[in-house]
Amino acid sequence: MNIDLHCHSHFSDGQLAPDELLQRAYSNGVRCLSITDHDTLGAYQSGPLFVPSDMTLIPGIEMSAEWAGRNIHIVGLDVNPDDIALLSAVDSQQQVRIERAEQIARRLQKLGAGDLGPRARELANGASIGRPHFAHALVEAGVVRNVKEAFRKYLGTGKPGDVRNLWPSLATATNWINAAGGIAVLAHPGKYKLTRTKLNLLLDEFTAAGGRAMEVISGSQTDDETRKLAGIAAERQLLASCGSDFHRPDMQWSDLGRFPPLPASCEPVWAQWNINA
Ligand code: AMP
Ligand code: MN
Ligand code: MN
Ligand code: MN
Repeated sequence: MNIDLHCHSHFSDGQLAPDELLQRAYSNGVRCLSITDHDTLGAYQSGPLFVPSDMTLIPGIEMSAEWAGRNIHIVGLDVNPDDIALLSAVDSQQQVRIERAEQIARRLQKLGAGDLGPRARELANGASIGRPHFAHALVEAGVVRNVKEAFRKYLGTGKPGDVRNLWPSLATATNWINAAGGIAVLAHPGKYKLTRTKLNLLLDEFTAAGGRAMEVISGSQTDDETRKLAGIAAERQLLASCGSDFHRPDMQWSDLGRFPPLPASCEPVWAQWNINA
């Protein structure tokens, strides 16, 4: 079975509505899907989604957190989307996003990009506002040629749009997920550009806080990377997850369900839900 446990809808920085995302996943052969929007459960609150009878939808979220001055993402899988404490955590994350957007707008304006705040908010259209909305606004304004350049010059790690000291700790985000009955998964461990020593420290803290899984496959990555991450998961007895991190059809990243299977040595996170791949 094709399983994709990480993707985004238009409730955060994805392009498709949840039902469009679901349909596209189904057409691509995905039979177990989690929509994991950044710091919002909007996809699960927008009324009933049509889920084909041979497909399972696992409620999920991708929480923003900070560790050692870095932006780290924790995916919560199988969370209760009606959990009051989780919903209040989501509210506070949304507040951070709104304040952060104001700071990003001010910083970009100081650099001569004009006031992109209103356009970024318009592009977000009530969704979880984030750096990708500013990236698109920068492209539209002709400041950069494409989204990649926007991140490289203005929004990526260490650039002006990378506002620090806003997100909750790794432990806080992990606790929110656990308290809502979910499984906390360290998202795309390869994307943080950490040394092996730093990644070990991060995983030490994550597991101490109650983190139980890590993504062994995130979108398209080298076989070498997959082997390395599968080894770390096994060593630490962490459950393994996989997902496309799909955002939009026109992006170069993986499409829904389009990535190789987890190595056989992995203990898949979905064994918890009695799903067999
Ligand atoms: P935020 O959640 O506002 O911190 O923005 C992070 C999001 O920006 C990620 O989830 C990606 O969707 C996107 N992103 C990060 N780096 C890049 C990049 N280099 N190119 C395009 N999109 C990126
Ligand atoms: Mn994103
Ligand atoms: Mn992420
Ligand atoms: Mn993601």
